[in-house]
Amino acid sequence: MIEELEALQAKGLYRRLRTLSKGRGARAVWEGKEILLFCGNDYLGLSQHPRVVEAAEKALRTHGVGAGAARLISGTSELHTELEKALASFKEKERALVFGAGYLANVGVLSALAGEKDLILMDKLSHASLIDGARISQAALRVFPHKNYEQCERILKKGAGFRRRILVSDTLFSMDGDLADLTELIRLKKKYDCLLVLDDAHGIGVFGRGGRGVTEGREAEIDVIVGTLSKAFGVFGGFAVSSHTLVERMIHFSRSFIFATASPPLLLAASLEALHLIQEAPGLRERLWQNVDRVKAFLTQIGFALETRSPILPLLIGEEKEAVEVSEALLEQGIFIPAIRYPSVPKGKARLRLTVSAAHTEEDLERLFSGLSGVFK
Ligand SMILES: *Cc1c(COP(=O)(O)O)cnc(C)c1O
Repeated sequence: MIEELEALQAKGLYRRLRTLSKGRGARAVWEGKEILLFCGNDYLGLSQHPRVVEAAEKALRTHGVGAGAARLISGTSELHTELEKALASFKEKERALVFGAGYLANVGVLSALAGEKDLILMDKLSHASLIDGARISQAALRVFPHKNYEQCERILKKGAGFRRRILVSDTLFSMDGDLADLTELIRLKKKYDCLLVLDDAHGIGVFGRGGRGVTEGREAEIDVIVGTLSKAFGVFGGFAVSSHTLVERMIHFSRSFIFATASPPLLLAASLEALHLIQEAPGLRERLWQNVDRVKAFLTQIGFALETRSPILPLLIGEEKEAVEVSEALLEQGIFIPAIRYPSVPKGKARLRLTVSAAHTEEDLERLFSGLSGVFK
């Protein structure tokens, strides 16, 4: 049993859980030392927003902690109904369905939409939960090279014999921070009459004038949009927005929906308040994008080529061991940007995945810049 773990160690792929005590904003304490986090997905700092915390506290007092049963038994509360209505209206789709996590939403959506007779086409860098959903669905899975829509079209042409074809992609890729070409994906969906499923986990709350994500304004042309309540919402959970019929399919055929206990009501109440903040407080998004622009400019100056304007800024290192060493050198200076390695990214493409939040202060950014200058001299 231990040999495979030892092999990971030899390749620089061994992982350790770091126990942190989280503090205010992006601060945390690790082994008695204060560190700054540049790695989370709490892009708007909503996990600590007083209104979100208060909503959770209030629901906790009224509803207790656990939901006590699955959604189809007694786990659906009025908070589910309210949150689902609000999410559907926010994303301008007929219906929304809340899942226990974004991971469960992706697994549930693909297994509800596809079966043995169907074909799923997926961008190679799509999130692991989409790949797992495709596997569970038992549909044929074909992967096209990252953002290579010509190759995708070739596979679509050959796949005419399948009952349904389902085109799947992330919108903002979580490890590279680059954007899918929605215009191309929508063109292919229309031309080949397939279903389009987009995972906007890192986009919703962050991108678009209204914070509606990378998919903002194109909702009508996309069959299913998956989002998470665990990132910009600052809470925990996942959801899908779609048509009435497809949401009904998810309720009937998604095993990750049917066979899992419903989310704790306090998380639903917190998510609802976070959604209100995403809709009414564009100031948070402005602050986030100002921080993104400052960090991106600094990284460009020290020699990192970054194409996309995004809160996910990968510093490509390459070799796994080197990425770990660089990350540890930064941690020595109180800057925490973990090394991301295989299997999260391909072998030999290890990187530091730097993320920026509205919760980062001016002083935090200054500390980041001085830490990076020290390491990448
Ligand atoms: C994080 C993530 C998920 C999973 O969401 P959770 O709520 O953390 O389970 C799904 N898709 C993408 C692209 C993600 O980055």
